[in-house]
Amino acid sequence: MVMKERGVSKTKVQELFVLDGGSIELDKSSLTFGHNQGVRIRVPIPIYLIKTEEGYILYDTGWSPDLVPLLGALGYNPQISEDQVLPKCLEKVGVSAKDIKKVIISHLHVDHAGGLAFFPNAEIIVQKDEYSYAFRPHSFGALAYNLADFNHPSFNWNIIDGDKVIMPGLSVVLANGHTPGTQALVIDLPETGVFIICSDCCYTSQNLTEEVIPGIVWNPVLALHSIKKLKTLGELLGGQVLPNHDIDFWNNSLKKSPESYK
Ligand SMILES: [Zn+2]
Repeated sequence: MVMKERGVSKTKVQELFVLDGGSIELDKSSLTFGHNQGVRIRVPIPIYLIKTEEGYILYDTGWSPDLVPLLGALGYNPQISEDQVLPKCLEKVGVSAKDIKKVIISHLHVDHAGGLAFFPNAEIIVQKDEYSYAFRPHSFGALAYNLADFNHPSFNWNIIDGDKVIMPGLSVVLANGHTPGTQALVIDLPETGVFIICSDCCYTSQNLTEEVIPGIVWNPVLALHSIKKLKTLGELLGGQVLPNHDIDFWNNSLKKSPESYK
């Protein structure tokens, strides 16, 4: 019997930039199921730009600029300036939209898929269960999807089913429950080490530490299992698990573009 050598291949990831896609206000109970109803909280919209040996990759794309006036009218108090629209965020770190080779979409909610139209030629990696659900969501989840963001069959979709290594040092893992096909990102940075970027599987640190499921949820049992899965992965890999919409974490613990993680 031939024993396989231990260890993983050398990472092809070179650098991670966290781009500022603006912010909106939500009821805190939207983030943490059954907690803090009536408490308003500002929610940052991060977009992740990954520089790799095979080109630039995005994880999520923020809001569509077309929806910002509607967000205001609905009382979400958006703070999304023209400078925070995705091509402008990219420009600030010397990257143009046409440099983006792949877009990994954590899920197709409006604050994640709204910038897809800026990348009509990029490969767009999405989970099969997310893609099919987004066209026909249940009534309780429909408001979070905007068909115009993703109803483009001509886009270069790469529809995958479950966990997948994108390249050495960069993988997606299914973290569903918030939606049917939410996928988290596991990224191995050459100096910083491993990050597990949760997307909306874990909005805030409270979702992680207290294992509270998101307030916006499709399947609560799967959502809880996914939180535990990402925490376990973090421990196994010695990595840091990053919540996605946590204003305190954003303000105090996260390096934002033009700074970067190497
Ligand atoms: Zn979401």
